[in-house]
Amino acid sequence: MRVILLGPPGSGKGTQGERIEHLYGFPRISTGDLLRAAAAEGTPLGLQVKAVMERGDLVGDDLVIEIVRERVHAQDCREGYVLDGFPRTLTQAKRLTEMDGERDETAIEIRVEDSVIVDRLSSRRICPSCGAVYNMKLKPPEQEGLCHICGSPLVRRQDDAPAVVRERLRIYHLQTEPLIGFYRMKSIFYPVHGENSIDRVFEDIRAILDDLLRSKDKRRVEI
Ligand code: AMP
Repeated sequence: MRVILLGPPGSGKGTQGERIEHLYGFPRISTGDLLRAAAAEGTPLGLQVKAVMERGDLVGDDLVIEIVRERVHAQDCREGYVLDGFPRTLTQAKRLTEMDGERDETAIEIRVEDSVIVDRLSSRRICPSCGAVYNMKLKPPEQEGLCHICGSPLVRRQDDAPAVVRERLRIYHLQTEPLIGFYRMKSIFYPVHGENSIDRVFEDIRAILDDLLRSKDKRRVEI
């Protein structure tokens, strides 16, 4: 099963992707995390990636596709995986099928209004050491300003600055939103209301995935 999480930055793809990973055992593949790791290596390519990300632009398709290709062919992805932040362009979406065939797949859009996103991302903080994500309003750390997993001081992602968030939203509407039509045409598209609580959004996602997995099992028995 290939689960594709669509939705603007800050819609909760990471949080919901982690929950899917935990419950169903499909590893979460976040291209944002993979690219941040590449940027942190400080190689010439890493530094270029970092500059693009800090502006809120998209990293080039070819590079991102190569990173994903390597990851989805790893052993732990045989039964399935959850894509968080990929594909983000129509080219990426088409290449995904080419690189990993026609698996059972579903695209779930976590729908959130732009005004809510701007508000949410201005309150998002991350732990630079272990990658944990907090929201000062919705999911605050137990101790103010500190990661409750590893104790490091929390920081704001450079690309969560309001001007960069507006640019990321502009790019989302321009380049990524057309994927909704693409997956609708494939009859695998399901929207969920992303402004509900984290638990409620996950319940809706779970209902979709359970239904798909049940019909997959049923097909298996009939064969
Ligand atoms: P995210 O953590 O998903 O919000 O991604 C952070 C940044 O990484 C984005 O704003 C882009 O600059 C870059 N990025 C992540 N995924 C992709 C992708 N599929 N294609 C191009 N750039 C990406």
